[in-house]
Amino acid sequence: MPQKTFAKVIAIDGPSGSGKSTIAKELARALNVLYIDTGAMFRALAYIANSEKIELTEGAALNNFLSSIKLEYGISDSILIRINNLDLSDKIREHHVSKLASIISQLPSVRKYLLDFQRSLALDKVCVMEGRDIGTVVFPDSFSKFFITASVDIRAERRLKQLRENGDDKITLNQIAEDVRKRDETDMNRAFAPLKKAEDAMLLDTSALAMKDIINILSSEVKFRAAHLGFNL
Ligand code: C5P
Repeated sequence: MPQKTFAKVIAIDGPSGSGKSTIAKELARALNVLYIDTGAMFRALAYIANSEKIELTEGAALNNFLSSIKLEYGISDSILIRINNLDLSDKIREHHVSKLASIISQLPSVRKYLLDFQRSLALDKVCVMEGRDIGTVVFPDSFSKFFITASVDIRAERRLKQLRENGDDKITLNQIAEDVRKRDETDMNRAFAPLKKAEDAMLLDTSALAMKDIINILSSEVKFRAAHLGFNL
């Protein structure tokens, strides 16, 4: 029987505010591998489509938009993402962009566009790729998969802290908790590539775990699998 082959991808999926971005970044740093944030791509597309007044529904306008843009990821340490040479690294973190990204991420043509883009980024070196459907759809053959979660209250508190740090002092904890619930609902129930744990992913609830313990758990697991498959880290 032919041996199963694996993509050199560490897939990290989970809902917003679960701590998966911090974990994915820290893990990539600890292992000294590339970190790829796929949420940033949905955010960037949503931001530009919205500012160009493209309707966020399937149709000719969206298709023309997707076929005409130049999307670039990971250009330098300071430029995470660019569309048509416009640096969007900071703009995509604004609160209203989260909602737009959640809307645009339900559209099959956008998912298809980003699926191809994401697959083109993972090459012959191990990378950490973070999102909602990496272990289920983008790279179901990832050699190492994690699904990170935490309670809604904890996730809302983390998001509030982040927004306060970014200067937003108006939004309340209740509003954020409501947004978190709505986004979960949309992400888990959309028809295409919904947010769900891959069967072979390790589930980790971060509500009561310290970051350094999480990174230790994940990096030992990744190193074990990489050694088993002969992947260099
Ligand atoms: O991870 P982040 O919060 O930046 O993602 C923004 C939005 O993009 C999410 O709410 C989700 O709807 C969408 N997304 C997705 N699939 C991914 C990454 C993000 O649908 N792989």
